[in-house]
Amino acid sequence: DEPGAIVLIDLDRFKEVNDTLGHHAGDELLVVVADRLRTGLRPGDTLARLGGDEFALILPHSDIVTVRALLDELSATLATELVLDGVPLSIEASFGAALYPEHGREIDELLRRADAAMYHGKRGSSDVVVYAGEDMSHPTKWLMVQAELRHALARDELVLHYQPKVDLRSGEVVGVEALVRWQHPHRGLLPPSEFLPAAEQSGLIEPLTAWVLRRALADQAAWTATGRSWGVSVNVSARNLEKPGFADYVSGLLAAHGTAPHRLLLEVTETALAADTRRATQTVIDLTAVGVGISVDDFGTGYTSMSQLRGLLIAEIKIDRTFVRDVTEAPQSQAIVRSIIALAHGLGSRVTAEGIESADVAEWLRRAGCDEAQGYLYSRPVPWAEVPTYEIT
Ligand code: C2E
Ligand code: CA
Ligand code: CA
Ligand code: CA
Repeated sequence: DEPGAIVLIDLDRFKEVNDTLGHHAGDELLVVVADRLRTGLRPGDTLARLGGDEFALILPHSDIVTVRALLDELSATLATELVLDGVPLSIEASFGAALYPEHGREIDELLRRADAAMYHGKRGSSDVVVYAGEDMSHPTKWLMVQAELRHALARDELVLHYQPKVDLRSGEVVGVEALVRWQHPHRGLLPPSEFLPAAEQSGLIEPLTAWVLRRALADQAAWTATGRSWGVSVNVSARNLEKPGFADYVSGLLAAHGTAPHRLLLEVTETALAADTRRATQTVIDLTAVGVGISVDDFGTGYTSMSQLRGLLIAEIKIDRTFVRDVTEAPQSQAIVRSIIALAHGLGSRVTAEGIESADVAEWLRRAGCDEAQGYLYSRPVPWAEVPTYEIT
């Protein structure tokens, strides 16, 4: 709760330099800019490259007066003439600043305002916006992840990997689950655990889910064109279900992609369902009315009461990996798995086991009446082009 600021910086003529002098000049320019920005910073300040020609500054212990002074100084330092490939240039940049914590609570809102301030071109003395980082142990890190993720969405740095779902009786691939990853420009391929919590804490989970849905439906259409009538599963967060109009949004996307609604499964964790807000429950009802399948993910780990499932149309229940792993040895896991299978079938749902790593476990589940399976035994999540189509027997 120390006051501070986040600043977005966007170079004004980077594209022009790149286009006229080439990429090496563009790269050189970015190095010079980073050096010049760094010389103006105080100990404890952080400079980060966001990708493209954008940078971010984290300025702890700053108020509006210090931020303005620092930005005026930085824009003067940047403007010192520079010669690239014999061409003299002056570097200009747009700044957008957001101050925390005094004006707002939502990081996403703050970043949007910093962004808006930046595009208004109020160089050096931008509008001031706010951020309060209550329950975050590393506010600066979160700020960076959220700022970067926002740009990742704009720059299409997210990728989907797909993990097949296999019919335990026929051994055929019957569908795929989309699992998001972030192809980070510096940190490599990041798993969802590195960025989903930050997305969920901010409004970013909404554009993220929208991106995943669009990508997955487009990929599915391409599979359909090659004769594979796979269902596609997409994970959604509790926060997506809270958003009014989510079911209409999904219905519109299906129409736009020409996808039959029953070929989309939305995976909702048991915990999200158990939260049982009226809004989330209504969204689930609206989605099933459209014909979209609902899958209850991580089943057995949350606290759904039976009465919460009653009245909902559940297409699939997924048994959590923790019960599957030791099911051939542990009598308690066996009892839990058997009762989940009975419950699912009693409700008219299919049941899928996750995290299958051995053929013994697959065989046990098949005998117990489990319908479908996923796990490293069959395939890890892989890029679209590498999804196996084979039968597993
Ligand atoms: P999940 O939905 O329960 O997905 C299954 C996770 O288990 C995946 O991790 C998958 O790679 C991993 N897994 C699959 N088979 C095996 C196995 O045989 N053994 C082991 N040890 N692990 C296996 P991943 O991809 O890291 O995803 C983690 C979680 O992130 C997912 O758990 C899901 O809750 C969330 N997630 C992933 N993509 C999205 C997305 O697009 N949107 C949302 N809201 N959440 C997502
Ligand atoms: Ca620019
Ligand atoms: Ca899932
Ligand atoms: Ca799961």
